Amino acid sequence: VREAGGDSILSLSSETHKALNRRSVIEKRLLLALDQKNLKVLYQPQVDLQTGDIIAVEALVRWEDEEVGVVSPDELIPIAEESGLINNIGSFVIEEACKQAAKWKNEGLNLKVSINLSVREFRDKNMAKSILNTLEKTGCPANLIQIEITEKFALEAEAETSIINQMRKLENAGIVFVLDDFGTGYASFRYMQLLPISILKIDQAFIGSLLQSEKTQRLINGMVQFGKSMNLIVLAEGVETIEQRNLLEQYGCDAIQGFLISKPITELEVSNLVATV
Ligand code: C2E
Ligand code: CA
Ligand code: CA
Ligand code: CA
Repeated sequence: VREAGGDSILSLSSETHKALNRRSVIEKRLLLALDQKNLKVLYQPQVDLQTGDIIAVEALVRWEDEEVGVVSPDELIPIAEESGLINNIGSFVIEEACKQAAKWKNEGLNLKVSINLSVREFRDKNMAKSILNTLEKTGCPANLIQIEITEKFALEAEAETSIINQMRKLENAGIVFVLDDFGTGYASFRYMQLLPISILKIDQAFIGSLLQSEKTQRLINGMVQFGKSMNLIVLAEGVETIEQRNLLEQYGCDAIQGFLISKPITELEVSNLVATV
């Protein structure tokens, strides 16, 4: 094998080797970072289109390591899911988010904080209980916390009673569920009936192509109308231009998130931004 076209085979396997190596270094460093709380959370504002107020922020994990450098969530989360460390990331982000929401509340800011959780985390039978414990410990009211689940999550969860029960438990306590990346999964309306979802978040890929064709505009308008007819709050993510914003407003979309308002920023920058809006 080595003789015929050996070079490319060798370099391919060395690439694979490098990737595997980076992965195992990331796992090791992540364990350490979690232990030392060396991760950070940034917050991206969500704005009510009727009032222009910042009503919520999405908590997004950030990690820069001495050895491996910046590891983006798109690289980090899959590795964490496979190694089982996703639960530790979740615990960290939940605690940070609850502390921060409680802190803003004490400063007189009524800001909800939205947290991304994966289906794997909800397979932990104590998930709901541990979130409720964190709320109590941090003095954060349940109605300040939102949980973002993806369509993929919803599809898997609809067959798992214990996940549905945990979601209902959290919803009864006052936590709101957001269906993230709406429109990108496999169309299933069954979970709309089964899961306690209150907010529909239209995926940024649709918003990004909003201005490209009339067909996309009809599609997104349809998504907004669908959400409204289901009595859901409709939120659009990845809004980057005023033209996108205006069309979404015209469709009756309730809220937007995206670079047009702000990129993800620190808690201090959020406080300052809210003060100036
Ligand atoms: P997501 O939940 O769909 O989050 C939105 C992503 O889009 C974020 O990327 C955000 O920075 C980016 N974004 C926001 N506004 C705009 C915009 O106007 N234009 C464009 N092009 N992008 C925008 P980020 O922070 O890199 O996160 C990527 C994904 O990683 C998230 O997608 C989410 O699925 C996951 N993630 C991030 N933090 C966490 C976490 O704490 N736990 C879990 N389980 N997943 C997380
Ligand atoms: Ca999200
Ligand atoms: Ca999303
Ligand atoms: Ca996404």
